[in-house]
Amino acid sequence: MALCLGLDAMAAGVVMMGRGRAAAGEVTSMLQLRPSCECCDRNLDPSSREAFICSFECTFCRDCTERILGGTCPNCRGELVRRPARPVEKQAKFPPSTERVFKPEGCQRVAAAAEHRP
Ligand SMILES: [Zn+2]
Ligand SMILES: [Zn+2]
Repeated sequence: MALCLGLDAMAAGVVMMGRGRAAAGEVTSMLQLRPSCECCDRNLDPSSREAFICSFECTFCRDCTERILGGTCPNCRGELVRRPARPVEKQAKFPPSTERVFKPEGCQRVAAAAEHRP
């Protein structure tokens, strides 16, 4: 019985957390602004104009986007466009993502495919 009460309390906690997130929905709907390139792990500043993203916010530097990926996301095959820079003064209130994604194998696959093109 104690276990059941414990689970109920946990469930209530999850619901409350969920509500908290919903209330902050406006904030979470902004771009993630990931801190690094998925191909080369280079740091990409949230106010950088050298960052490119797809519609799923896969994030790459300009070099990888233009030279290796040819403007196409290796994860979703979507279009990569320049990521809008977030003004530095907004970054305290709307902090960029700190989640680093590093998938160099995806970029190598695209680079290898490009070499086989006629
Ligand atoms: Zn890169
Ligand atoms: Zn993508």
